[in-house]
Amino acid sequence: MTVMVRIKMLILAGCMLAVAGVTAQKAQNASSVQEVNEAAKPAAKVTAIVGATLIDGRGGAPIADSVVVVAGEKIIAASSRATVFVPSHADVIKAEGLTLLPGLIDSHFHLDGDDGLPPLYLSHGVTSVRDPGAWIEAYDAVRKSGRLIPRLFLAGPHLDNAPPAYPHDAFIARDAEETRLAVNRFIDQGASVIKVYFRLPLGLIHVVTETAHARGVPVTSHLEIVDAADAIRAGVDGVEHITSFGTALLPLREAEKYRQSVLADNNARREGRYKVWSEIDLNSPRVGPLLELIARRGTFISPTLAVFEKQKGDAGATEMHVRAFAQMLKFVGMAKRAGARIVTGSHSSVPHAERGWAYQRELELLVESGLTPMEAIVAGTMENARFFRISDRLGSIEAGKLADFVLVEGDPSKDISTMRRIKRVMLNGNWVVPEAQTKR
Ligand SMILES: [Zn+2]
Repeated sequence: MTVMVRIKMLILAGCMLAVAGVTAQKAQNASSVQEVNEAAKPAAKVTAIVGATLIDGRGGAPIADSVVVVAGEKIIAASSRATVFVPSHADVIKAEGLTLLPGLIDSHFHLDGDDGLPPLYLSHGVTSVRDPGAWIEAYDAVRKSGRLIPRLFLAGPHLDNAPPAYPHDAFIARDAEETRLAVNRFIDQGASVIKVYFRLPLGLIHVVTETAHARGVPVTSHLEIVDAADAIRAGVDGVEHITSFGTALLPLREAEKYRQSVLADNNARREGRYKVWSEIDLNSPRVGPLLELIARRGTFISPTLAVFEKQKGDAGATEMHVRAFAQMLKFVGMAKRAGARIVTGSHSSVPHAERGWAYQRELELLVESGLTPMEAIVAGTMENARFFRISDRLGSIEAGKLADFVLVEGDPSKDISTMRRIKRVMLNGNWVVPEAQTKR
């Protein structure tokens, strides 16, 4: 073998290795989770949305005077008008003065028997929702209703121990074997996430993350009385509710007192968490290492601030409640600045929003906590897509992705409250809100 041939073979082998590496990387990034419902197939036509300011969900500067072209359910082009060719047969939607964004993704949606809520959410721009703890069967009626609804990402009941806080939404797993069987059964039934609840012991959280991750499914958590740092080290991908960090931030002796009160009575958390948050010292030495861990592990945080909102003058709100909520906001801002991956979860029903608008309220509170409006938009689009593991097909407006859009009046990158001024909504290439009847 000549030296030349040998070098060529080495180069060839190197290329093959590189290709294998790329393939492995792709497999890891590939979407392994699916919604349980099938979005309506669009008519085989081409639509061009012309003249809108484009916020593509990835956090870059908005593109003024954009053109986005959709064929069937897919985006085929998205850029400034000067660089995109509009096919002559396209249905042209004039969108000057409007902003086009990816369909909103909600990481914390509860149905609670309100079958009208998914269509209402869709009309407000939310095109994907994830329920972090409900039997998959709880969605049968709305799925059979024939109404257009967001993409549904479900968990099955959350895994808890006795006595559960929400018996109707819980599955009791008492040991490792029951835990493994439960995780696998719910994934077999279509779960795209597994949720652990606060009575599940840490050892079983470990079993959940191992079992779910082996199936390519993420794990999220409501911790409350489980130390968040312990749970993150046990492998949870996400933490629901900012209150889940309380026990990891209090001095250990105080944390244990709160834990024992909730173990004795689940309902002790309702007032107890406000007392905890009013007392947390955000300058304590417990804060830094926890934030560092969250950032290093890439843990997603779904703060659901809107459900805890207490403002001065609210019925029953004391100074303690108001201070506690202000501290929750502050901690979200600190987490964001430390590099945490914040996502938007609405919790569906919250004190300071009318029915159907909890998601928009959460966006506003994320901005109040210190996120820029653009960061709040990313939290509700691309970051949630990464949390769900669907970012290869949803979460941003890019060629090749699915056409889930919301078109709003005004510029939400300057004023996040314009996310309430919905003009049109597209789901899987179909206009579901042709013109806004929802403006408020
Ligand atoms: Zn919830």
